[in-house]
Amino acid sequence: MSAEHGVVIVGGGQAAAVATRTLRRRGYAAPITILGEEPHRPYQRPPLSKEFLVKGDDSALDLLAPAWTEAQGVTVRTGVRATRVDSASGAVDLADGTSVRADHVLLATGGRPRRFPGADGDRIRYLRTRADAETLRGDLAPGARLVVVGAGFIGAEVASSARALGAEVTVLEMAPAPLLGLLGPRLAETCVRRHTAAGVDLRCGVTVAGIQQAGEEVVVETSAGRFVADVVVIGIGIEPNDEIAAASGLVVGNGIHVDEHCRTSHPHVYAAGDVANQLHPLLEGRVRVEHFDNASKQAATAANNILGRTTVAADPHWFWSDQYDANLQYVGHASGSDDIVLRGSTEADSWTAFFLRDGVLRAAFAVDNPEDIMVARELVAGRRVVAPEVLADPDVDLFEMVEQA
Ligand SMILES: Cc1cc2nc3c(=O)[nH]c(=O)nc-3n(C[C@H](O)[C@H](O)[C@H](O)COP(=O)(O)OP(=O)(O)OC[C@H]3O[C@@H](n4cnc5c(N)ncnc54)[C@H](O)[C@@H]3O)c2cc1C
Repeated sequence: MSAEHGVVIVGGGQAAAVATRTLRRRGYAAPITILGEEPHRPYQRPPLSKEFLVKGDDSALDLLAPAWTEAQGVTVRTGVRATRVDSASGAVDLADGTSVRADHVLLATGGRPRRFPGADGDRIRYLRTRADAETLRGDLAPGARLVVVGAGFIGAEVASSARALGAEVTVLEMAPAPLLGLLGPRLAETCVRRHTAAGVDLRCGVTVAGIQQAGEEVVVETSAGRFVADVVVIGIGIEPNDEIAAASGLVVGNGIHVDEHCRTSHPHVYAAGDVANQLHPLLEGRVRVEHFDNASKQAATAANNILGRTTVAADPHWFWSDQYDANLQYVGHASGSDDIVLRGSTEADSWTAFFLRDGVLRAAFAVDNPEDIMVARELVAGRRVVAPEVLADPDVDLFEMVEQA
């Protein structure tokens, strides 16, 4: 591959934007081309289920200002689908039959909502894109009957925004409580309280058997009976857009396999964001993560490695969610933890839970306590052993404790 074609980034989302900024900020002078399938320039998704869904304010969505990309010689192509990377020539093939040459390729194709089988109709919706959010906002008038399938983060945020817009909301969750797998029964119960206090009809332990649109209504058949809605939002996870990698002969399996440098099985092709299934040093295994911070960190890692600055994506994973009036944050991976230590009471407005294994802090979850999560990020990254009574003691300044260490 010659050194003049530059970097081609497939996908125009969070990872694409961060990789572009990192490359230019660190002095990469060759061409950068972003190929995005959507009609929009790169934009961020978190507001789509929050303020953009409620207020329609798009001022915070754009990730790369046109004036900046123009000044930086970055080409942003929208409405363009890439289909394959030719590993011999370095060309990225497009669906229109043309191709773009590259020295390095970053695959940042994200994911698409997992579909509920047989659920078709213009009142049955998913939320992934700006267009999805714009359409959904039109449905959420006061008194509109909304059924949300799935009480994960997208489902919970849609329920929250819909309540803010005055809709009547029913949430159907298969598990006995929302976020049960992530938080465990005791903490998941706080999610039940949050939904219920906001006037949501939350039904847990419910299996959805079918979703059918009948005229202007949608009927949801479940193990707990039939629910009738004006609109249904399905939030049951995403599937990675890894077909381009498979078509290019790269190793895939629940996303595109990358090493700790975010490099795929081809030395000049990288992957980052929701589509990347990374070998993670902190976890001693692979993980595919669907959060904003991970997309940003992996993109920066890929960009640095393209620049020849050997960099590893090793931070603990972190994310936030805004639901009703609460800000939820989580860092790390609690799986396998054998102790949960509470700082504060779950009855209070703000509190933090620390997850430990063999005394080592593995993860933390906080409600309206972002400072605790900042400290926990350091402790989790450092695999620190912290005495439970120290974590639990509200008089101990955790920042100070980390500083001193
Ligand atoms: C509604 C919503 C709310 C969210 N809220 C939060 C939150 O509060 N906190 C948090 O941490 N995370 C949140 N997330 C997750 C976060 O937005 C994602 O983790 C992040 O967008 C991933 O970035 P990405 O670049 O990997 O993928 P994306 O942002 O999805 O970008 C991928 C882009 O690639 C395009 N593409 C796919 N295939 C091709 C192809 N073959 N050719 C060309 N283009 C292609 C897609 O159309 C898409 O535009 C939210 C996500 C959604 C949908």
